[in-house]
Amino acid sequence: MTMRSLQTDYLVIGAGATGMAFTDALIDHADVHVTLVDRRHAAGGHWQDAYPFVQLHQASLFYGVASTVLGHGAVQDRGPETGLHERARQSEIRAYYDDILLRRFVGSGRVTFLPGSEYRADGPAHVVTSNVSGETVQVDVRRRVVDATYLSPTIPATTPPPFGVADDVRVVPVNDLARLTTAPSRYVIVGSGKTATDGIVWLSTNGVEPDRITWVRPREPWMLNRAVVQPDPAIAFGLAADTMAAAAEAESLDDLFVRLESAGVMLRIDRDVTPTMAKTPTLASWELDLLRSVEHVVRLGHVRQVNRHEIVLDHGTVPLEADSLVVHCAASGLQYPPLVPIWSPDAIRLQTIRVGFPCFCAALAGYVEATRDDDRERNRLCPPNNLPDRPADWAQMQVRGTLAAHAFGAEPDIAAWANACALNPARVTPLHRDDPAVKAALSRLTEHVEPGLARLTELANG
Ligand SMILES: Cc1cc2nc3c(=O)[nH]c(=O)nc-3n(C[C@H](O)[C@H](O)[C@H](O)COP(=O)(O)OP(=O)(O)OC[C@H]3O[C@@H](n4cnc5c(N)ncnc54)[C@H](O)[C@@H]3O)c2cc1C
Repeated sequence: MTMRSLQTDYLVIGAGATGMAFTDALIDHADVHVTLVDRRHAAGGHWQDAYPFVQLHQASLFYGVASTVLGHGAVQDRGPETGLHERARQSEIRAYYDDILLRRFVGSGRVTFLPGSEYRADGPAHVVTSNVSGETVQVDVRRRVVDATYLSPTIPATTPPPFGVADDVRVVPVNDLARLTTAPSRYVIVGSGKTATDGIVWLSTNGVEPDRITWVRPREPWMLNRAVVQPDPAIAFGLAADTMAAAAEAESLDDLFVRLESAGVMLRIDRDVTPTMAKTPTLASWELDLLRSVEHVVRLGHVRQVNRHEIVLDHGTVPLEADSLVVHCAASGLQYPPLVPIWSPDAIRLQTIRVGFPCFCAALAGYVEATRDDDRERNRLCPPNNLPDRPADWAQMQVRGTLAAHAFGAEPDIAAWANACALNPARVTPLHRDDPAVKAALSRLTEHVEPGLARLTELANG
């Protein structure tokens, strides 16, 4: 049987946040055809399988694609986050990506979407097999293959718990909290990351008293205060200035984070324990208060096995009450593959460039791909950055991201594009250019950036 073939300029593997942001910026600045493939049935990547009460942990404006704002750019005027920017819920994120994909991409005739389809390289050939029809298509790529799966996060819904589970124990992914038909007597939340904090906040806001929650926290996390991650250049440059000022004076990595805590940048749940984890998800102070109300905290390392009567951990065992529900929030989320040049001869591998903000970084890569014709130059402007796991990685990410922002920001066209792009946390609109608060934050940043970067480099290299 002959295999059907399809011609395209770009084959983008993965229609998650990064594949979507790259494609959007690319087709906006180059007259090209893109084929987008995903094993999921729709765009949006992991958001398709996320727990239903998930929300962006940062402002909606920072998420999505460059051409189209997610949400309304509104500031919350009620509730515990009054004064902070709105954060989209899962349903809104999914609807947004659906609209971008169908109306803007496929509707323009410049993007072909192959849903429910698995990509694989077969030697030099690129083949895509539909998981629905079984048909395999060979994709002839005129320009580039784009790997938008390189940093794809793992999530509890699609990743089994990283510990053994005896047959007669109820261990469920966090998603199942929203599908309970009878309430257990105790919830055992396993995990230290954003998903675990979301689970606890959701239980608390649904009337579960903190003494019915046991929280197994293998590591203590540092988290970013949401109040300092807002679409406002005075706040953005203020955050960068605080980071550099704290770093310049820091005696150690731990001291750096404590200084940032004093500056209102970092949060930790228990002020008597020094965190060792620095993935730094974003948290609001009302959420922190709820998290602190949970007193049954197990700090005995990672869970190895859950049996009917006990939880076995690296450093000990704790009893498990009958009728407990163990909630799996222990997928690692962020991934840490080796840093590789974003532009390689075989593929473009989307990674972060500045500090965090994967959507902005993927859009930037799309813009640079469209507007530069030399890979060496593209890689100079957009070096890959790491995602953080431990405090030293966080320091390293600050150094790499700051240097990258200087490199791409020095190009007038990129600076102009980035200043018009809502995804960019450091954008300065004409409205803000003469704002005294922005000027003051910038001048503080200028004062501290050199000594801060030098010390961050030392701290990162240990
Ligand atoms: C719960 C949660 C909340 C988060 N909140 C935020 C936030 O508020 N702000 C923020 O900036 N970041 C947030 N993140 C970080 C997140 O990593 C990024 O936002 C981003 O969504 C990751 O997108 P991606 O494109 O890298 O990966 P994915 O969303 O995983 O997309 C990759 C896609 O590739 C497809 N794929 C993989 N391999 C193949 C193959 N061989 N063939 C076909 N398809 C394939 C997958 O099906 C998937 O849909 C959050 C992460 C999680 C888990």
